[in-house]
Amino acid sequence: MTNKHPFYTLQLGELATILESNGFQKFRAKQIFDAVYAKKIFTPKDFPSIPVQLINFLEEYFDFQPAKRIKNKESDDDTKKCLFELSDGNFVECVLLEAPADDGNIRKTLCISTQVGCACKCAFCASALRGFVRNLSAEEIVAQALPFVKDKKFEFENIVVMGMGEPLMNFDNLLSALAVFNASDKFAFGARRITVSTCGIADKLEKLAEMGFPYRLAISLHGATDEVRSKIMPINKKFPLAQLLESAKKFASVCGRMITLEYIMIDNVNDSFAQARELAKIARLLHAHVNLIPYNKVETLDWKRSDSARRSAFAKILKEKGVSFTMRREKGSDIDAACGQLALKKKLSEA
Ligand code: SAH
Repeated sequence: MTNKHPFYTLQLGELATILESNGFQKFRAKQIFDAVYAKKIFTPKDFPSIPVQLINFLEEYFDFQPAKRIKNKESDDDTKKCLFELSDGNFVECVLLEAPADDGNIRKTLCISTQVGCACKCAFCASALRGFVRNLSAEEIVAQALPFVKDKKFEFENIVVMGMGEPLMNFDNLLSALAVFNASDKFAFGARRITVSTCGIADKLEKLAEMGFPYRLAISLHGATDEVRSKIMPINKKFPLAQLLESAKKFASVCGRMITLEYIMIDNVNDSFAQARELAKIARLLHAHVNLIPYNKVETLDWKRSDSARRSAFAKILKEKGVSFTMRREKGSDIDAACGQLALKKKLSEA
């Protein structure tokens, strides 16, 4: 483990104080913030107009690279997967997805992870296979975005917290990391361009509502009745649908933003027309948008995606009931970078 101090979660005033107590001038803090957050330079030796002594101090004192990018995989459909090594030898993956938007332009979305492994045990998900290892620090969450900088700008327009792990079970670190992206004196990345996806930790949704969470929220529903949902998502036993929907409703009304309900379609599990009708009721109750997602095959699991005829018939029911929905195109499955395929790699050779 590194003994260096976190940098990205520091406030400007805190940095100034550290500099001063180490014999440097306070105004340098602003210069350093400018180099990192405006110029997007993450190596002190490349900071402009900084005296060499201060550069040496910064390099020794702070960890500007809390997750080291070690490998890149390019997928045929333009999905980039990035593997990071953490200071304790664990690995975490993140994915840059490219998809044409409604306006015809290519939209890039960065999908980041919040935990090594996951404790939620969703029966269909690769990240659940090896269980929970540990939370990522806020710095490690932020670090996943840093290699994706081109010409002083992030290469992506949106961030989705849909990689490995359950973000709301790493609550404080998640919020600190998102604040680094969002703060006006840091990356100033718009809150509406950030989406946090949760499997439905109802009590944390209440907390988000109370604090006026500024980001977008997606809920992984995947089952529209307790019977179906509990079969594939153990979290539903702790927070059954009635409780989850109550909290979600509160979130939507307090935060004033439309929630997205994610619904992966698994053959013969959650794709009945009865489920479509129940899903429509839930979506209308919450005024939520539904994202229908074809299930991505996970090698060691038996689940199969619903075929396209079933997906269309299911979608037709939502349409008839006046529900706003999209059918997500699958991305990155050839490099195991699609949703739920970010498995836990113990060794580099497995990546
Ligand atoms: N824990 C969070 C975020 C990580 S998963 C959550 O549950 O929302 C991101 C999304 O991918 C979730 O909707 C998850 O249910 C979905 N997912 C998991 N495995 C999948 C698979 N094999 N195919 C398609 N989507 C999957």
